[in-house]
Amino acid sequence: MKPFGYERPVDLAAAVTLLAERPDARVLAGGTNLVDLMRLGVERPGLLIDVNRLGMDGIEPMAGGGIRIGAGVRNSDLAGDIGVRTAFPLLAEAVLAGASGQLRNMASVGGNLLQRTRCLYFADTSKPCNKREPGSGCSALAGSSRELAVLGASESCIATFPGDMAVALSALGARVEFQTERGEHVVDIDDFYRDPGDHPELDTTLPPGAIITAVHVPGLPVSARSTYRKARDRRSFAFGLVTVAAALEVDDGIVQGVRLALGGVAHRPWRARRAEAELVGRPVAVAAIERAIDAELSEARPTPENAFKVPLVRRLVTGTLLRLAAEDGR
Ligand code: SF4
Repeated sequence: MKPFGYERPVDLAAAVTLLAERPDARVLAGGTNLVDLMRLGVERPGLLIDVNRLGMDGIEPMAGGGIRIGAGVRNSDLAGDIGVRTAFPLLAEAVLAGASGQLRNMASVGGNLLQRTRCLYFADTSKPCNKREPGSGCSALAGSSRELAVLGASESCIATFPGDMAVALSALGARVEFQTERGEHVVDIDDFYRDPGDHPELDTTLPPGAIITAVHVPGLPVSARSTYRKARDRRSFAFGLVTVAAALEVDDGIVQGVRLALGGVAHRPWRARRAEAELVGRPVAVAAIERAIDAELSEARPTPENAFKVPLVRRLVTGTLLRLAAEDGR
């Protein structure tokens, strides 16, 4: 591993100043992804800035029934918070669907948002990868792509975002708060993540020198009836092949409100707005749901290895919404 420095600033202003002065620095919270990548030689920072003592570890109520989750909150604490479990069950379920108990005890909310793709070639420094080494090529295009994207990919990269929590946050319309030397900023989570385009080395729109400080989750009545489902190769400690975060409000068998986001299908958490628009005002029935999800997937471009994801999305979304509707009727 390349030698690196270590600093533990005493407050957020000092951390932001240090990060601005050192473009080769990386922010360290739980380190569950960053340190692995450093061991592999994928990340080679000259300095780690430890933000664990900056007091960003609270979950606070916001106006309108929303919550502000500090970026340093550990995934286990978020999943176990009674307010989160009651008002945003899909968020707690998504966090519990990710990683192992040990990793969740270490991993932070901010780090969870910024985790890197698990594309095999990204982690293998002997192979070309545009995300790791811009301009070097994409080994996955003619290689192993079973886990990779079917939506929003480019000729430069077909990687998927590997996380679960951010998929739930996308369905909830969350906002990401971050700090730079110019002050505090807040951005919608769907504007935080980006498609790969010609610059797959950039996972997000977070500007250089920024530190994520919190996530804002708005209070929505539809959130209380919500869930997260994950299709994966084994039940524990595996990344999702396809995941769905869903919230549903039904009256007399008709959809009044719905939130849908997909994981494991794109470079970003994929908010299924087209499907949502198709579903509102329609009965909760297999045919209507399949029509909606087919509209969402109309631009899917799977590889021969991952074409199975298209019918898997259809079945996972249909089963999830039917189950939520059945619970709504109890
Ligand atoms: Fe790299 Fe993206 Fe291609 Fe994977 S899909 S090899 S991450 S450029």
